[in-house]
Amino acid sequence: MAQIIDGKAVAQKVRSEVKAGVAAFQAAHGRAPGLHVVLVGDDPASAVYVRNKEAAAQEVAMAGKVYRLPASTSEAELLELVRQLNADDTVDGILVQFPVPAQINQTRVIETISPAKDVDGLHPLSAGALWAGAEGLVSCTPAGCMRLLREAGVELAGKNAVVVGRSNLVGKPIAALLLAENATVTIAHSKTRDLGAVCRQADVLVAAVGREAIIKGDYVKPGAAVIDVGMNRNAAGKLCGDVDFEAAEKVAGYITKVPGGVGPMTIACLLENTLKAAKMRVSRAR
Ligand code: NAP
Repeated sequence: MAQIIDGKAVAQKVRSEVKAGVAAFQAAHGRAPGLHVVLVGDDPASAVYVRNKEAAAQEVAMAGKVYRLPASTSEAELLELVRQLNADDTVDGILVQFPVPAQINQTRVIETISPAKDVDGLHPLSAGALWAGAEGLVSCTPAGCMRLLREAGVELAGKNAVVVGRSNLVGKPIAALLLAENATVTIAHSKTRDLGAVCRQADVLVAAVGREAIIKGDYVKPGAAVIDVGMNRNAAGKLCGDVDFEAAEKVAGYITKVPGGVGPMTIACLLENTLKAAKMRVSRAR
């Protein structure tokens, strides 16, 4: 039976570290790092995500604000707010909750956020810095996956890693981070032939697809570390991942659960990113 990697416990550890870091930043600079979150429209799931981010930021005594804009907000109005936040020295992290309403171009929003404040790590300069091995902000969920592997003591150098999914938000940055840790990385996607055979090569298998149980038990190499990023609803409406957990846990060496695995890490790493952004801007200003 696999060892379960407890995302809740690791996320709590990260939050405690961030809380201490926020207090130290406040003592050194006379202000707390500021996380500013923009929500456009009234999508119920987005509203919940934003409330959770707001509560998490307050818990670690971070400064910041949530801007709740009507669904009718124009792209020009949103970009103007982003530019104001870019120019405000007390703002360290800017997060626009996606999806945005159809009249707003998501790519233009991403490209307008200053890379120095891009705590979602989605700006092309942030993505480029990651692949180039330069300093920058890394998307929160991928950073969270790496922390889970590190906390579990999973060796990465020289190991075969397979990432299933190649989105800019999850799959690609995870692949870059695994490569930076000297894993031999394969990225699988919807056009991959014989996904099972590809996955069976993996010492580290990361599933970021968004399809219930796409990773079967016999896709898992015995002893592998399996990280399940997927967040899906099964037929009964219950939250589940991309991995057939019951079958995979019998084969894997380490595995994350859904819920309670990668999910809690995302907000913890958002807080960590905001603290990092604040420190990077202070040190660059010197
Ligand atoms: P996405 O943008 O829809 O990307 C899904 C990826 O899966 C695509 O690259 C797609 O390939 C690939 N894919 C689709 N069908 C496939 C198949 N049959 N075989 C192999 N690959 C296939 O989704 P995402 O934003 O990366 O999110 C992925 C999952 O993670 C979702 O369930 C999402 O809810 C979850 N998620 C969780 C968190 C968290 O905090 N836990 C955060 C973010 C996302 P193509 O590129 O070829 O289309």
